[in-house]
Amino acid sequence: MNIEKSIELFSRAQQSIPGGVNSPVRAFKSVGGTPLFISKAKGAYLYDADGNKYIDYIASWGPMILGHAHEEVVKAIQQQALHSTSYGAPTELEIEMAELIKSMAPNVDLIRMVSSGTEACMSALRLARGFTGKNKFIKFEGCYHGHADAFLVKAGSGLATLNIQTVPGVTAGVANDTLTCAYNDLAAVEKLLAENKNQIAAIIVEPVAGNMGCIMPQPGFMEGLRKICDEENIVFIFDEVMTGFRLSTGGAQQKLNVNADLVTYGKVIGGGMPVGAFGGKKEIMQHIAPLGNVYQAGTLSGNPIAMIAGYTTLKILKENPSIYKELEEKTAYLRNNLHRVFLESKIPFVINQFGSMISVHFSDHAVTDFASASSANNDLFKKYFHAMLSRGVYLPPSAFESWFLNNALTKKDIDYTIEATEESLKEIAG
Ligand SMILES: *Cc1c(COP(=O)(O)O)cnc(C)c1O
Repeated sequence: MNIEKSIELFSRAQQSIPGGVNSPVRAFKSVGGTPLFISKAKGAYLYDADGNKYIDYIASWGPMILGHAHEEVVKAIQQQALHSTSYGAPTELEIEMAELIKSMAPNVDLIRMVSSGTEACMSALRLARGFTGKNKFIKFEGCYHGHADAFLVKAGSGLATLNIQTVPGVTAGVANDTLTCAYNDLAAVEKLLAENKNQIAAIIVEPVAGNMGCIMPQPGFMEGLRKICDEENIVFIFDEVMTGFRLSTGGAQQKLNVNADLVTYGKVIGGGMPVGAFGGKKEIMQHIAPLGNVYQAGTLSGNPIAMIAGYTTLKILKENPSIYKELEEKTAYLRNNLHRVFLESKIPFVINQFGSMISVHFSDHAVTDFASASSANNDLFKKYFHAMLSRGVYLPPSAFESWFLNNALTKKDIDYTIEATEESLKEIAG
């Protein structure tokens, strides 16, 4: 495969962009080699600057659930752009977006739009603190909630990929209010509670974790957290930036049948445009400015282009819930067949799958938290990643990332992916 242009572009990019990329995981640091520069995408396929075609299992890290350049979404953006790209004043479109989200997502009385998942989580945490008058919060090792200071403690994929333990620039004062424990470990949460009685404002969790590979909540874990939050007057925040509108129309709340107090969204909610949102119960959300004193704002929040892209995407999902069933069937088919070819290869593996999220860990024991995800064989992942890429299958360039299926993927694409895996595993083993 010729990637001459990507090599040239990467070297040029590094002259003016730190590390040549605008988000670290794109740099291929943990898998090595040259990141591919993408020139276009359509449906389930990415095309790089050299004209190579790839089956895309990243979907822009989730948003492109309908596939790239979906006709309706593109058309809606084009039409909106003719009426200007931003006003800095309210629009009816924002009401329609909020109403649509409320009609899909459980436990959302009020919702505020922002421009990224990072902003959504940062604002939800501030709100939880403002609402409860408490400072500390609990997050789980390996969960990522964006790059706001408070969350950059044991924060999963991006940092794990680069092996960054502590982040320079995050003060001890900030980090000290962030309590962490292992995902799926309810006893550890109880211990933190006992040690920090009446000091914890919030528990924030990825209801299905996607930033240490795909990791499912074990039975009772989410329910246990819900119960603790009720008993201790703690705001329970579901970070649904990854799972929202991906696992079902009502996201993980609906899929797991657990209610959150605040929910954060991103990725799918913007249909490929920079959008995030946080919402939840009125009694909490009414503390946000201008209703309350917890300040939060954004020049481009609710931007009309971003709103129409998100609105059109969500509307398609709402009106065609069969998409979720199809996605799940495709992903289960992929899982079952990957399972078969991995077994044949005799290479140790764990495949975790939930809805349209799936990941492969090169490990011989169950992967249920960050520690078990980290102990997998990254060398094998690297080899697998490159063997797949050279066969035209674009997987996330990190063992700590979930793959995201998009609905433009055909059975033929998935069959090709399975065959490519079979060949790749032979190459690795040989
Ligand atoms: C991607 C992600 C974020 C951050 O969203 P950005 O839009 O990249 O700022 C937060 N939480 C989770 C669970 C994510 O997957």
